[in-house]
Amino acid sequence: MSSSLRFEVVGEAFKKKAVEVPAPAERPSEFFGKYVFTRQKMFKYLPADVYKKMCDVIDNGASLDLQTADVVAAGMKKWAMELGVTHCTHWFQPLTEGTAEKHDAFVEHDGKGGMVEEFSGKQLIQQETDASSFPNGGIRSTFEARGYSAWDTASPVFVLGDTLMIPTIFISYTGEALDYKAPLKKAIHAVDKAATDVCRYFYPDVKKVISNLGWEQEYFLVDEGLYATRPDLLMTGRTLMGHESAKNQQMDDHYFGSIPERVAEFMKDLEIQALELGIPCKTRHNEVAPNQFELAPIYEETNLAVDHNMLLMSLMKKIARKHGFRCLLHEKPFAGINGSGKHNNWSLATDTGILLHGPGKTPTDNLRFVTFIVETLMAVYRHNGLLKASIMSATNAHRLGGHEAPPTIISSFLGQQLSDILEHLEHSTDDELIDVASKHGMKLDIPQIPELLFDNTDRNRTSPFAFTGNRFEFRAIGSQANCAAAMIALNAAMAEALIDFKTRVDALIANGVDKTKAILQVVREDIKTCKPIHFDGNGYSEEWQEEARRRGLDTERSCPLIFDRYLDETSVKMFETTHVFTRNEIEARNEIKWETYTKKVQVEARIFGDMCMNHIIPVATRYQSALIDNVHKVQEVFPAETAARLNAKNLELIEKISEHTSFIAENADRLVENRKVANRIENVREKAIAYHDTVAPMLESIRYHVDKLELIVDDEMWPLPKYRELLFIR
Ligand code: ADP
Ligand code: MG
Repeated sequence: MSSSLRFEVVGEAFKKKAVEVPAPAERPSEFFGKYVFTRQKMFKYLPADVYKKMCDVIDNGASLDLQTADVVAAGMKKWAMELGVTHCTHWFQPLTEGTAEKHDAFVEHDGKGGMVEEFSGKQLIQQETDASSFPNGGIRSTFEARGYSAWDTASPVFVLGDTLMIPTIFISYTGEALDYKAPLKKAIHAVDKAATDVCRYFYPDVKKVISNLGWEQEYFLVDEGLYATRPDLLMTGRTLMGHESAKNQQMDDHYFGSIPERVAEFMKDLEIQALELGIPCKTRHNEVAPNQFELAPIYEETNLAVDHNMLLMSLMKKIARKHGFRCLLHEKPFAGINGSGKHNNWSLATDTGILLHGPGKTPTDNLRFVTFIVETLMAVYRHNGLLKASIMSATNAHRLGGHEAPPTIISSFLGQQLSDILEHLEHSTDDELIDVASKHGMKLDIPQIPELLFDNTDRNRTSPFAFTGNRFEFRAIGSQANCAAAMIALNAAMAEALIDFKTRVDALIANGVDKTKAILQVVREDIKTCKPIHFDGNGYSEEWQEEARRRGLDTERSCPLIFDRYLDETSVKMFETTHVFTRNEIEARNEIKWETYTKKVQVEARIFGDMCMNHIIPVATRYQSALIDNVHKVQEVFPAETAARLNAKNLELIEKISEHTSFIAENADRLVENRKVANRIENVREKAIAYHDTVAPMLESIRYHVDKLELIVDDEMWPLPKYRELLFIR
């Protein structure tokens, strides 16, 4: 008997035609932001004084009174109803995955027996939500179950289908953050304040520093029919078994190849809808692995960029289905093949248009450049363990350290030119560097810094935090992660480094040291201190593991233990002094991290066990029986000696199958046992550790035998779509 479902879906997948997407009548510049309540729309739909007030709220964080909110809501409602909108929702980012919404219709009783479309300022700015259905890491039990969502005026309202979407923060009744946005906004505020203060050494007119984020979203597309026949993909987002195909990515032919037609239509559809929602999509291409792709927008202010990434991920999933695909955002859907990440290109810029991580033309620019680079390295050095914790998850753990993904050690790649500059600064004296008496004003002998640092396009793909010319590229972020987690840690750590820097420089100045000399002195001190974080070599090498340990960098690989870094005194102090998190919030969030980790492994283990028992063992046994039948028949037909010779191969296979199936069956039982033991542990951290140490590794060891069986068992019988089918059909 063969497994017909697999062949049916393979056949259907082959027949699928691209779903054509009509070219829009307008140019992208015309439909960009069509469904966003932008400033132009505010200007059109709001009275002039209210528009001005809103600009003040958005730009300067002025407070929004209820009367103004009522007028804004009325304008929004008018605009939205012209687009056919009937509902509104507060849209927020809980500590689970993705985004959450609670829809309310615009209609209210009109008091005369009919209904009227209503949307008040109060509905716009604040809503009460039952927080108990969202993870809160114990905050719920200590406090009330009530949660509030409150409008984030810095992220514009938009329309999705028939719904007006209002980006909000989500906090508990007592003010603890239950989401990613609230602390992200605090971290952005902290770095703004700290960086502005430091900027004023160089440019007195700077009023604000903006944190920029340009993410690059990687993803896989898999035919929907094939996806549906794999319980593991369906339930966990990754394949828990499957032998690698004879050919996968060795040839790199996918990366440079043209985009397949079905995929091209999907991308077109996605880009049009993303542009209409104000997401500035810029780049699309094939990625290294077969059926892997990437989309990157132009960078934006970090808070907005995060919202746009969350929105894009949900659009991707929705639009993929329209094209007969499923979009896999998991960090490692296929073993042995590149995983998906989400590089976070991060930089700071002033309101006057200076990129603080980019070199400039004047000595002042260059000193500022070096200051911000070195203080970034200080932040990353001090908090390398925490930054790793910020990107770590049960799913990303599968990707880190394998196949072109950064290793589980945070270090920073600087490239030859920048390394030379830092070395020169470190080894020169003040007087060598500054010639204050020079006729042309202050002369700063920093070796000529080219405005384009060419060698940084030389990609050291193994570096988790690489300098790339005018920004740093944090590459360890997982493809399905909310970028906010990493951006909170990075911006807060940077704020702390800058505050500390300024304190020391000011102390020197107070002691009569010239400002430039004071800055140089502290920069030079920090170059020495943060040296261990700088690593331009091969992050995959065994030697690096050793070397990193010697340098005192965090080399922990266990996901639940990595989460501990949030609770280090240095982390808590950093988050508290920057007013990003209280200790209570950090503790609560860590509970959620451990809980989530456990749940993920738990679900995987269950599905895996089911697949072993319901899919693999029965099929392997059936094939084995067929072989045994054949052996008997051969014995009937041939003389004993000939039969023995002819049966040799089959007998060997029969034995192998038995060995594999009995290993699988026995260990599937042990897997259940280990889960039971782990489940009895009360402490969430201890439970996660047990799952990591005793459950997760068994999935790998059993899988080895399943994958071996896949190579032996008759292809006609194998029930699960194979890697070659999942990866090469599109
Ligand atoms: P890659 O070669 O790594 O794919 P790209 O040139 O495509 O790099 O850029 C990746 C992302 O980096 C884009 O979102 C881009 O807008 C963003 N980016 C470019 N410059 C900066 C910067 N100074 N700060 C933050 N992001 C930036
Ligand atoms: Mg990149």
